[in-house]
Amino acid sequence: MPTRVLLIIFCILSTSFASAQEGSSINIRKVVIDAGHGGRDPGTVSPNGKFKEKEITLSVALKLGALIENKYPNIEVIYTRTKDVAVALNKRTEIANKNKADLFISIHVNGVTSRSPSGSETFVMGADKSNSNFQVTMLENSVILLEGEDYQSHYEGFNPNDPESYIIFTLLQNAHLEQSLNMATLVQKHLTKGPIKVNRGIKQAPFLVLWKTSMPSVLIELGFISNSGDLKILANKNNHNTLASLIFDAFEEYRKKYDKGYNNLDYITPNQKSEEKGNQKTESNQIHYRVQILSVNKTIPFNSRELKGEKNVEYLKKNSLFKYTIGQYKTREEAATALKEIRKKFPQAFIIRVKNNTIIN
Ligand SMILES: [Zn+2]
Repeated sequence: MPTRVLLIIFCILSTSFASAQEGSSINIRKVVIDAGHGGRDPGTVSPNGKFKEKEITLSVALKLGALIENKYPNIEVIYTRTKDVAVALNKRTEIANKNKADLFISIHVNGVTSRSPSGSETFVMGADKSNSNFQVTMLENSVILLEGEDYQSHYEGFNPNDPESYIIFTLLQNAHLEQSLNMATLVQKHLTKGPIKVNRGIKQAPFLVLWKTSMPSVLIELGFISNSGDLKILANKNNHNTLASLIFDAFEEYRKKYDKGYNNLDYITPNQKSEEKGNQKTESNQIHYRVQILSVNKTIPFNSRELKGEKNVEYLKKNSLFKYTIGQYKTREEAATALKEIRKKFPQAFIIRVKNNTIIN
């Protein structure tokens, strides 16, 4: 990438940090996690043919989603896929837009014919005049050719293999560029602390999957499946946890920077009284009542079917069970009123007494 382009990005970045500090605030309530490729589209494949991008992206995406769901019950995580299925690029965007998501994170793995490139890079949507990212952009966009003969009708006549097609992007104005660049910077900051150390930086390129998202969005290339060092790391499932938690760290930092509701939204589990929350006075310190709707032996995603779309669910751990609850009520009477309503959806629901995030008799 030429120095001039880099400079421009840095300029945009430094203003974005400044304005974020000045108090531009967004709510982050819904996050879309997009596992690249899937189904008949394997994405890039390791030189020995054993490892496929679609498997690595799905594994990291689900782990990232679980981290967000478990720590922030009030944030809804929406996946573009949770299985090995093909999802068209415009469908992925549509999922994010229809749900009015606040952040879109697309996860990919790089692959080139040369074995030497390695490292992670994060893209935001934009016209890439340098052409240096053209190979990876074309590769990621070319999956629409698998979407059937009329694919062009979904992408305004766009042909991923025709350089002329990319001209439509040069006029692009991205309203969310500031936040996108910010998130991309944080992803690179944290990812490069992990097993794949080479930092290929943040880049702008015209990725179709980011093109029409109406929220801040990034596309992460975790590393190169074509590089033996990166592949060794990407092929090991234990590293997927690490990679997911590094992206999670970036997400948390992004959220702290932008989301003014951050503290109110946070939830502490009994064994997790973090420094952040240490001196924050919440109702949880006093005896209060909640309505328990479910008890399970492991945590479940907050968008799982068992929770029936209920938004304000929290959980408390008791012995080895996770008790999912709704509401925090000062009196038993208030809880009883709420219970009547809640039982319409959860007939087994009942009232529990809680102090310091511990269920008391
Ligand atoms: Zn990909």
